[in-house]
Amino acid sequence: MKFGKRRLVTWVTVGALIVFMLDWGMMGLKLFDRNFDILTEACVGLVCAVVAIAGFIILRFSRVCPNCGKNVVAKGSCCPHCGQKL
Ligand SMILES: [Zn+2]
Repeated sequence: MKFGKRRLVTWVTVGALIVFMLDWGMMGLKLFDRNFDILTEACVGLVCAVVAIAGFIILRFSRVCPNCGKNVVAKGSCCPHCGQKL
């Protein structure tokens, strides 16, 4: 995984979180209005939650090399791209 993909994952994660919050807001408004037809919102919210959690896991378990800026998923102490110690 390259640096650009990591940034993409960050944006997808943030986007999913924003949609998730908007979705819950809409669901709350509907419930407040005593409208219980929230199946669509519930599905969208679930998908967004899964995407956001997956994004967090990817970001949590991957590091960026401070020397070459490439993504390092391996647990080793050296960057496999440039050999820089992490
Ligand atoms: Zn490196």
